[in-house]
Amino acid sequence: MIGIFGGTFDPVHNGHTHAALAVAAELGLSCIHMLLSARPGHRAPSQTYNVHRWQMLQLACAEHSILIADDSELNRPGTSYTFDTLTAMAASRSSAGEDKSPPVWILGHDSYVTLTSWYRWDEIIDLCNLVVLDRPGQMTLEDRNLVDFSAQRQCEKIDHSRAGQMLRLPLPMQEVSATFVRQQLSLGQSVSDLLAPAVSQYIEQHQLYITTESIV
Ligand code: ATP
Repeated sequence: MIGIFGGTFDPVHNGHTHAALAVAAELGLSCIHMLLSARPGHRAPSQTYNVHRWQMLQLACAEHSILIADDSELNRPGTSYTFDTLTAMAASRSSAGEDKSPPVWILGHDSYVTLTSWYRWDEIIDLCNLVVLDRPGQMTLEDRNLVDFSAQRQCEKIDHSRAGQMLRLPLPMQEVSATFVRQQLSLGQSVSDLLAPAVSQYIEQHQLYITTESIV
């Protein structure tokens, strides 16, 4: 059973790795693909070039054997749609003869509340099971479609033999965001307690997040 944790990771921080490791331990997942969202369709462009975000993600994952930095969206041209990523992953797992348990797609509540704006959002659940994590410090409302979706799909425990279920996992999470990390760095403040040491070094070496301006 594998998990997928998608993000812009701009930059990857301890809240991300903590969340992925906590879900893996809770659900007994063998690995988590930390999937770099290269060109997301449903949010503003990232502040940092893909090449830097990818290098930092690899550095953070290198510290944990079950975290796999995944560049499949980087290697696919055009907008990075979750529906396409899951479809491609199902095809490649099937041709490799891998276990057919659908993957677990992990996302924080702030990301979950945007789900109805994602490309083919109501078909995504047919390709995976969703795990929704609390996001401390972020108050977010669910729209009518999402409330209906959750009423139909929410479960108490995932049956990994099939897709189509949504589980809310109220595990303790860390109150950190990439936005806060970028803001602190632009003010010259230290964020070393929020990042893997190798990621901090990389940011310093490449002088990233000196401003809060976007690259595009
Ligand atoms: P930004 O502040 O730029 O929006 P972010 O910190 O939310 O960034 P993303 O890369 O956008 O990070 O998020 C990737 C995924 O990780 C999303 O599903 C998000 O909800 C989740 N996530 C981010 N930070 C945390 C955290 N501290 N605890 C739990 N989940 C988190």
